[in-house]
Amino acid sequence: MQINLIMQQKITLKLLPSEAQNESIILERIAQFLSKKISAVSGFQIIKKSIDARGKNVWIHLLVNAYIEEPVQAKNELKFAFKNVKHATKKIIIIGGGPAGIFAALQLIENEVKPVILERGKDVRARRRDLAILNKEGIINPESNYCFGEGGAGTYSDGKLYTRSNKRGDVNRILNLFVHFGASENILSDAHPHIGTNKLPAIITEMRKQILDCGGEFHFEKKVIDFVIEKDEIKAVKTADGDCLSADSFILATGHSARDIFHLLHQKKLQISPKPFALGVRVEHPQELINSLQYGKNNPQQPFLPPASYSLVQQVDGRGVFSFCMCPGGIIAPASTNENELVVNGWSPSKRNNPYANSGMVVQLEVEDVMKYNAARPDWPTAGYSPFVMMDFQSTIEQRAYEMGGGQFAAPAQRMVDFTQEKLSSSLPACSYLPGIHSASISEILPSFVNDKLKKALRQFGKRFVSKNKQFGYFTNEAVLVATESRTSSPVRIPRDEKYLHHPQIKNLFPCGEGAGYAGGILSAAMDGQRVALACNN
Ligand SMILES: Cc1cc2nc3c(=O)[nH]c(=O)nc-3n(C[C@H](O)[C@H](O)[C@H](O)COP(=O)(O)OP(=O)(O)OC[C@H]3O[C@@H](n4cnc5c(N)ncnc54)[C@H](O)[C@@H]3O)c2cc1C
Repeated sequence: MQINLIMQQKITLKLLPSEAQNESIILERIAQFLSKKISAVSGFQIIKKSIDARGKNVWIHLLVNAYIEEPVQAKNELKFAFKNVKHATKKIIIIGGGPAGIFAALQLIENEVKPVILERGKDVRARRRDLAILNKEGIINPESNYCFGEGGAGTYSDGKLYTRSNKRGDVNRILNLFVHFGASENILSDAHPHIGTNKLPAIITEMRKQILDCGGEFHFEKKVIDFVIEKDEIKAVKTADGDCLSADSFILATGHSARDIFHLLHQKKLQISPKPFALGVRVEHPQELINSLQYGKNNPQQPFLPPASYSLVQQVDGRGVFSFCMCPGGIIAPASTNENELVVNGWSPSKRNNPYANSGMVVQLEVEDVMKYNAARPDWPTAGYSPFVMMDFQSTIEQRAYEMGGGQFAAPAQRMVDFTQEKLSSSLPACSYLPGIHSASISEILPSFVNDKLKKALRQFGKRFVSKNKQFGYFTNEAVLVATESRTSSPVRIPRDEKYLHHPQIKNLFPCGEGAGYAGGILSAAMDGQRVALACNN
């Protein structure tokens, strides 16, 4: 019998959530599946774990590597060869210490190139204090906030680590790097891994230590404000504190909120173009409601399941409306970078144990949508075509949201059904957003072509995402919409050569990550950082 020759076998088990947490049950099921005695199964390793909540029962699918009459072997861990680069012959300046910049630096070190990261914000610890002031007192530090500072926008996030752009790089390598620097090994097997805001800062700190130990540099409060360009090369960058720093090449990984960098590129006559992004609100429901919708009300298996998440998408009048960056057990955060602009996003701790479930709910915007809208409004500040048409539009919406919230980063909010019925909410439910929410009409903040699509999509989601007895569902006035979710991706694209990845006009400037338009999340930004690091070393 062939099966006897196979000492390790990959098999998929379908288990109840309670069973999936019990090692002896898993061993029993493996033995059953292979028609072996349980004593013959020496152990197993989980390769992939996913939750299937589509049917009557919720199932856990476990892909395991089962060991039969053979000792369990240590997992094949990826090894990283970080070299000493203190005196390396080649030096590359990385502008921006977000996931793209940090993973580029780690890759350069493996390739014996010295990385020098220049980061406008503060280190993770100092940054935490600025976030506390923002949340408690409504005062923003434009250089140190949820977007700017060590680890970039990814540090105080949910730390979801999945991407649809698997083809753009080696996802497994990035996940293994996270584990190498302290993340739980579960992220290697979970179908939808996440790390959590409480764990990310320590991991980022370890990454920085590795960069410094190898002789790389990581400078904080070092904001790049100018490029010294000669012919088709950057010779140096100037920083706000008066330094002029030279290098062989420059990686530009400044994220989607560095509007000054987009202006600088334009001033220097370097090509940039407007880029579509998605705009909408953050929706918050009680987590219990989302659990009941996904797992069934009073499901006895619920204690063995994580707080439920969801992913919703709907085409409305030719544009996608979709949930974005869903944070189970999360908190809505003020993700602005400027005074007088209101932007929200979400984060969760590793246990996702807050009583709220929040998610962006956004409408895809094309450049033509905004151009058409602007043309119909002569009073609108962004009339006419420019590389900043999307960015200025984004900023104007954010300013309106700030005003409608009443200041100090209080956010305008409206109950979900009230929004669709154009009714001002007479009261608002409890909400996780710390600077506070203020009843307002969301329709007065977002343009009509976004409002209309959002309304239609929310009603559709209500029909699809509903309890079996139809007594409760996603479309409910228990949910609150908080404005505005506007930094879903960069409103500007910085072009680059398809093969060599440098800017078409500057051969040693490498646009990278989300800000340049080549990533949309932590994992894809990290992958782009690695890709660019390899390209600029050629
Ligand atoms: C609250 C929140 C939650 C999020 N949750 C998730 C999540 O769960 N999963 C996920 O995949 N994504 C999440 N995101 C998005 C994710 O964080 C970004 O996609 C990712 O960080 C982009 O990486 P990046 O390196 O390209 O840019 P960024 O992370 O934006 O980093 C850019 C860095 O450049 C610095 N910089 C800017 N200008 C200059 C300058 N002139 N000089 C020097 N430095 C400069 C900035 O300070 C910043 O640190 C979240 C974002 C936020 C704000």
